[in-house]
Amino acid sequence: MVEQGVIRPPSEASSLLVRVTRNCPWNKCLFCPAYKGTTFSKRSVEEVLSDIDEMAETYASHVDVITSAFLQDADSLLLPTVELVEILEHIRKRFPKVAHITTYARAKSMKRKSAEDYKTLKEAGLTRVHTGMESGSLAVLQMVRKGSTPEDMIAGGLQVKEGGISLSEYIMPGLGGKTLSKKHALETAKLLNTIRPDHIRVRTFAMHPQSPMRKMVEEGKFVPMSDDEIVAEIRLLVEKLDEMHSYFHCADFSLNLLMQVDGYLDTDKAAMLRELDAFLSLSKEQKQAYSLLQRSYPAQHPLNAVRDPKVMEQLLPEIEKIQKGGDDGFNTYIQHLMTYQLPQPQTDTWV
Ligand code: SF4
Repeated sequence: MVEQGVIRPPSEASSLLVRVTRNCPWNKCLFCPAYKGTTFSKRSVEEVLSDIDEMAETYASHVDVITSAFLQDADSLLLPTVELVEILEHIRKRFPKVAHITTYARAKSMKRKSAEDYKTLKEAGLTRVHTGMESGSLAVLQMVRKGSTPEDMIAGGLQVKEGGISLSEYIMPGLGGKTLSKKHALETAKLLNTIRPDHIRVRTFAMHPQSPMRKMVEEGKFVPMSDDEIVAEIRLLVEKLDEMHSYFHCADFSLNLLMQVDGYLDTDKAAMLRELDAFLSLSKEQKQAYSLLQRSYPAQHPLNAVRDPKVMEQLLPEIEKIQKGGDDGFNTYIQHLMTYQLPQPQTDTWV
């Protein structure tokens, strides 16, 4: 029976999923529900090769249309290079049309491999590494127990790129809360400008109801941000990013309020800033209406939707109802809607 993990990047929706390890070896990040309640283990090369063989038989009639594969779960680069090479070569042997093989990895594991290792992995078929930077600020990373430092991220990221492998960095606006917002934006931009990844993927922070960060909120140690405050944070981040040939993705994740802010920094930065400014210049009611629209029906809604008096006529009574308890009532409601899109932990006691 072929094993599969619980998540993969949205860009790997049509990829063959090959599980090489189970769950996350770190699993302590306070914002991440994905693997809570599970334990990490490595799978033997024999087990993985046997899964690949079984999938090749199951998908025999589709083998010519399967062109990409993704190595699960959270940190495949923890495996020795020689084992990964054997797995990559076997995928390409059994699925000859596979041209792209990608994986998730933690910065600490990325750093442990040399540029030579990455060249070897590239030759065997690895084409992209997806990694969670979340923030370039050490203060934010320590607060959420990321377990990696900006130095790990620079070393790991640059080695992956030197080996000729495409690099995709995930960042999380809102993760610093109100207190660390500016630091989070400025230091994340600085780190991204140093690493210059091929892809920057925006994953707006939403707090899972079971997350230990709830307690931090009660104790006043974390102050959640509203949608428009997070847009202002993203605006500062984009402003400080170099006009480099990195693709800034918001469209691939529906928790991003402005999914239309999406494009190459070297050609589309000005247009992205214009869209962010256009949102920030809306009235308070229009911003709330846009948040309610996007959080209720996640999609790329044009800002013009809330410039339409007829749409506002429909949404304003809803906002008034939600807002009975004041502005915080509205923001709390929006934050609650956002949690529906998060993965679920596999435990009732996330500590
Ligand atoms: S964010 Fe990544 S490293 Fe952190 S617990 Fe989740 S899967 Fe593990």
